[in-house]
Amino acid sequence: MATKLPEAPRVGMVSLGCPKNLVDSERILTKLRSDGYAMSPDYAGADVVLVNTCGFLDSAKEESLEAIGEAIAENGRVIVTGCMGKEAETIRARFPNVLAVTGAHQYEEVVGAVHEAAPMPPSPFVNLVPDAGLKLTPRHYSYLKISEGCNHRCAFCIIPALRGDLVSRRPDAILREAEKLVEAGTKELLVISQDTSAYGVDIRKEPRMWKGQEVIPHMTDLARELGRIAPWVRLHYVYPYPHVDQVIPLMAEGLILPYLDVPFQHSHPEVLRRMKRPASGERNLERIERWREVCPELVIRSTFIAGFPGETEEEFAHLLDFVRAARIDRAGCFAYSPVAGAAANELPGMLGDELREERRSRFMAVAEEVSTAKLRERIGQTLQVLVDAAPAQGRRGGVGRSYADAPEIDGTVRLLPPQKISKTLKVGEFTRAQIVDAQGHDLVAVPV
Ligand code: SF4
Repeated sequence: MATKLPEAPRVGMVSLGCPKNLVDSERILTKLRSDGYAMSPDYAGADVVLVNTCGFLDSAKEESLEAIGEAIAENGRVIVTGCMGKEAETIRARFPNVLAVTGAHQYEEVVGAVHEAAPMPPSPFVNLVPDAGLKLTPRHYSYLKISEGCNHRCAFCIIPALRGDLVSRRPDAILREAEKLVEAGTKELLVISQDTSAYGVDIRKEPRMWKGQEVIPHMTDLARELGRIAPWVRLHYVYPYPHVDQVIPLMAEGLILPYLDVPFQHSHPEVLRRMKRPASGERNLERIERWREVCPELVIRSTFIAGFPGETEEEFAHLLDFVRAARIDRAGCFAYSPVAGAAANELPGMLGDELREERRSRFMAVAEEVSTAKLRERIGQTLQVLVDAAPAQGRRGGVGRSYADAPEIDGTVRLLPPQKISKTLKVGEFTRAQIVDAQGHDLVAVPV
């Protein structure tokens, strides 16, 4: 018997304006076609109509608005893109029923809006790529990028020169991706960007609808929504701006993991100023204390630079005191090394290789002392552990991670064989485990 393939949704396109807009329309249609969509030459046969607008002159704007009006009258399911995407409010005021408005060159967004308005029916014969995309991580954890680029200009970093200023993704596109990842088996979402706390500064006035409610493009709102989607949500690359205080209660409520990856890089205000670090004026020690009052389980991971140009012994000692006083759970440290093109190369007071390396070693000795003491405090606790490896169905034990351990960068929880014969460990599943020992960066636990 022949297999009947599900019918692909049909997309209609009205392309206005100059040849540059026409090329954008071609790109959008090429992507949609490669996603499996069919094209419709008329309004009647389309499941959704794209209007790629022109906003060059007032007359072109009026023509665009008329084209949107015609598409709504003839079909009703309309997505607007192109130059007039910048005037979303005008469009929505005149046509409140448009499904989405995206700007010029926002291919990912317009394609995402089509997927949402007219989803492709799942078919293993047609869809070579799973909904959640192809992943290089195990099924049970996924990185979720929320923005690209960075608005800061840290003296040692060339990322803004390579990747440009911060561009945030739409919150609904992020949440849709998160949902697909969770449907495909992800238990842990690792939120990444160059500067997670700055998420949305460029699109703050563009809230998006998600499950019938508006979501503001802001780290706290996004973290809350992600916490409703995935069992574990872990925040990376969070700078200590005052508004970070708002995500700590979400951790205390159990909505997101009580884990913060905050790249402090240094503690001394003068070094931070020379580094041109964001939020360098914040009183980080007091902030951390307040965070721990709200959420005592909070685990802080951070990275530091030892031997930055001009760093005095006194400034370095300040850094060691900070790591001890802040009880940083997990710390990494680089000896400062010049990067071609970085502004810090011009700073006076470059330290010799040996001194930079010596300070790195001294830093790591202190950081490990703090980390080991904190790990030992865990002995006797029972924690939820996400299983990463479980040979022989876990009968001989396995390896997992608790909320305190991000994959690849932190330690692990070594799981001993479960005491109960009936208990098996499965990769990608949670187990409760009682901590019985701490070894190096890792914990040892018995599944219970
Ligand atoms: S180090 Fe500074 S400039 Fe570089 S990506 Fe991070 S915040 Fe941006």
